[in-house]
Amino acid sequence: MYDTIIRNGLVYDGKGNAPIKADLAIKECKIALIAPVIAEKAEKEIDASGKIVIPGFIDPHVHEELTLFSDNAYELFLRQGVTTTVNGNCGHSVTPGGTEYIIDYFFNNGLISERNKREFKDYFPVWDDFSGYVDAVRKTGTNLNLLVLLGHGTIRQYVMNGAHDRPPSAEEKKRIDAYLREGLEQGAWGISFGLDYVPSRYAKTEELVDVAKVVAEYDGIVAAHLRHWIGTKEAVLEMVEVCRQSGARTQISHLKSSSEEAFEAAREAADGGLPIRIDTIPKSSGHCNRKDKLLQSIMAISDTFFDKGVEGVKAALHSKEGREIIKRDAHAKFGMDKEKVFIAISPDDPSLEGKSIAQIAKERGDTDPTETMLDLAGDDKEYTFWLGGPTRDDFARDHTKVIRDNPYVSVGTDRIMGDPNDPFYWYELQRYGGFPTFMKMYRKAGVQVEEIVRRNTSMVAEHFGIKDRGRLEAGVWADVAVIDLQAYDFPEPEEVDCKKPLTMATGVDFVLVNGKIAIERGKLLKPLSGNILLRNDHRN
Ligand SMILES: [Zn+2]
Repeated sequence: MYDTIIRNGLVYDGKGNAPIKADLAIKECKIALIAPVIAEKAEKEIDASGKIVIPGFIDPHVHEELTLFSDNAYELFLRQGVTTTVNGNCGHSVTPGGTEYIIDYFFNNGLISERNKREFKDYFPVWDDFSGYVDAVRKTGTNLNLLVLLGHGTIRQYVMNGAHDRPPSAEEKKRIDAYLREGLEQGAWGISFGLDYVPSRYAKTEELVDVAKVVAEYDGIVAAHLRHWIGTKEAVLEMVEVCRQSGARTQISHLKSSSEEAFEAAREAADGGLPIRIDTIPKSSGHCNRKDKLLQSIMAISDTFFDKGVEGVKAALHSKEGREIIKRDAHAKFGMDKEKVFIAISPDDPSLEGKSIAQIAKERGDTDPTETMLDLAGDDKEYTFWLGGPTRDDFARDHTKVIRDNPYVSVGTDRIMGDPNDPFYWYELQRYGGFPTFMKMYRKAGVQVEEIVRRNTSMVAEHFGIKDRGRLEAGVWADVAVIDLQAYDFPEPEEVDCKKPLTMATGVDFVLVNGKIAIERGKLLKPLSGNILLRNDHRN
């Protein structure tokens, strides 16, 4: 007797082969048999007639390593058919320094709110090293499988005692290596670089190669948020060079679909035999920031306000000099085209909802819309600002044929935790729907479903070295999604309701993680059957 049988589905093996109509039987955590008809019965029978049955998607780029301590259901991933995520990206790490240090680090980098910082210190489990983090995850439980990378930014900053624009000394380099080796030996999958951010951006190519050489000794992964400021293609070529010199498996993170030539550069390197793969956010929109988040991020990026806190920012909004400093230091926010900054939510004055700052300025008779935005930031009303609006020039467009034909590209949603207890604080909706968006966009362009599934399952599993996942065959872990392809969807950037941060994908009927049902006929369950996978654990 089997535990579960999924009957009559169209089964995609994840390796790119054409699908077959078949039954799939699960015993304990593994797939036991796939056959046209399985006569035996199971404890639980699932009818997948008219549905596709695929290996659960693997998302190689998310920032969800702390989420589970607040919310371990990971619903928005399961609703896309994702069963495994890779965390610890863009240079941010869960070690070294221990829980409190890491919470402060995440706050100082604008990744969590002031309230999170206080509360997380109260209720998060305590860890001192990667093994301690692994124990904390296992004790807490998770609906998804997680892989976790170490982050170069966090380690460098910890060892060098700050974000310094210089190479590490010989002694510091030794300590960076030691933390890296310790983490890799305790099961981390590699290291991530955040080369737009301090302090990773201060590392020259040689420093990256030295780090990557250590990772290569462990057959780990180097994932790179690129040094975009040198040009996207040039930044890809830098990582190609790091890959060539170190031999480390290399993941180009959230590559911008505005740059075909960057995709081509990575493809040429992979065609030439280098272990390089790419992930991209299929469509991306502007970030929705509630006013408290906007003020916090002004503080975080301003040398003047960093020590004065959010109260200092508020005071500055009421003086001419203060506003000048904000415009200079927070140019990334206040310097945006005001036609592309919208008020998404405005409970105190609903007439503003959906209007751009440019339009509001016109209605108010203001000559300078930047001043209008500063007025809104400084008044005593509540707003959510949509910075960039529904479309982004670097991501939000249909992929060109050159990108679609690149066989090394997968989805990476780049979902960032935000405040798990308050989804309205900060959100970017398209990141909740990366997989259905990619499926829809690529199918429409004529890419076969088996190829779309391969790129987002076995390709990622093989590249990262995840054993016995990412494909459907007897003996592998039973990470399975049953999807109604006609209903598998997420709203387009122009259609999505920007007032609803809990918008999720539709069309996923069943998801099993390690053989246990986590989505049942569209209903979320919490079997917590996921696990933190360790690079050096061959049972993975
Ligand atoms: Zn990034």
